[in-house]
Amino acid sequence: MDEHARLRLLPSVEGLVGTLEARGLLGGIPRRAATLCAREVLDDARHRLRSGGEAAPEALVEATAALLRRRFDLSLRRAVNATGVVLHTNLGRAPLSDAARAAVLEACVGYSTLEINLEDGSRGARHAHIERLLTTVTGAEAGFAVNNNAAAVTLALAALAGGREVVVARGELVEIGGSFRMPDVMAQSGARLVEVGTTNRTYLSDYEAALGPQAALLLKVHRSNFTLRGFVHDVSLQELATLGQRRSLPVVYDLGSGCLVDLGNAGLPAEPTIGDAVGTGADLVLCSGDKLLGGPQAGLVVGRRDAVERCRRHPLARAMRLDKLSLAALAATLQAYLDPARAWREIPVLMTLGAPPARRRRRAAALARALSRTCGSAASVSVVATTGEVGGGSLPDVAVPSFAVAVRPERARPEQWAARLRAAAVPVVAVVRDDALLLDVLAMLPGDERLVRAAVADIVRPA
Ligand SMILES: *Cc1c(COP(=O)(O)O)cnc(C)c1O
Repeated sequence: MDEHARLRLLPSVEGLVGTLEARGLLGGIPRRAATLCAREVLDDARHRLRSGGEAAPEALVEATAALLRRRFDLSLRRAVNATGVVLHTNLGRAPLSDAARAAVLEACVGYSTLEINLEDGSRGARHAHIERLLTTVTGAEAGFAVNNNAAAVTLALAALAGGREVVVARGELVEIGGSFRMPDVMAQSGARLVEVGTTNRTYLSDYEAALGPQAALLLKVHRSNFTLRGFVHDVSLQELATLGQRRSLPVVYDLGSGCLVDLGNAGLPAEPTIGDAVGTGADLVLCSGDKLLGGPQAGLVVGRRDAVERCRRHPLARAMRLDKLSLAALAATLQAYLDPARAWREIPVLMTLGAPPARRRRRAAALARALSRTCGSAASVSVVATTGEVGGGSLPDVAVPSFAVAVRPERARPEQWAARLRAAAVPVVAVVRDDALLLDVLAMLPGDERLVRAAVADIVRPA
């Protein structure tokens, strides 16, 4: 058949959409949107035929249906975290507790009490929903929350140091990832950065020498995602707080991952909690809501009342304010911390980190048995010990002992299986290491095993 004859065999745009509709492949997507996809697929097919390629009509139906799903299905979906990284920024960091999820639903199914004073019907403040919880669990005088910690840092510097100097150690000028660099954030806030010390060693005298008439604030930044070892000297928060008091300058601590419990309970090295930082004398402590705190994306601003008030009243605060869904989730998350034992039982991040390694081994063994049955001769399956991570730019040095199911496909590359798992109805995100697909159980949530099995079954099922 010559080229022209084959081109004539292609269906029309209308015909292609009609076929999809007849077979129930539109999946609720309006014909208008489907028409755009069909046109693209047909253009592509014509192009291929003209350059000597193939374009079978049946393949066009499938290609259009696939394009329709890629374009218009909701792409922000639930996923299984089989990476062994608990706080995975690309997988949405902390999963919410049951209580936080319920609070989100409660706040959005209808109208809500977001900014109303129920006693007299006047306008209320959205911050009121969390301030008492925040001050109770941190010991701070005052507090509120903005969109994320990057916003909290920008706001604090703008409110307390706009146009003047912020003194910070060179060794703490971190990049958080996603191109969040401390020096750039400071520039946006309108504050001028004065770096003191060297990369590895900073002394109190370095800060003292840098404090001129333009100095507005002393900033300490938690080295969230890296560690300095060897010939190192740091100035403690305690020393900075004393210096700040002597010179009447506020001390702001960007704690990064806000933690409210003693991680020693989970056999992890002690992290300074928000309460520790407040108690040590920081005027403001800033941290994320969705890292170790285990709540929604948010930036917590807690500390002395006057410093908190200056942030809250700054015009930028309005542009960075937390939405009602996150506010509801944050309040419910903080409420669990009123009793730390309850927080360990209910906050998913803490439940994960607090689980004994022996339980991870049992989970991995059970999953391996199940996957071995599912795979049959298509892959060899075993259990391997792994070192999981807390992630999310927290505790960079800490290895969380965990276990993974190692899957070695017989007739495919492990990367191909990893891609197929990501394409599953509920995507499973795993890693490939040492020529095996590793499904780490560390960050899997209860019930995720079923989803993993379903995704693997889809790969091995004969086409
Ligand atoms: C993670 C982190 C941030 C950014 O927090 P987001 O909530 O992601 O905006 C800022 N500073 C430090 C030290 C961090 O670890």
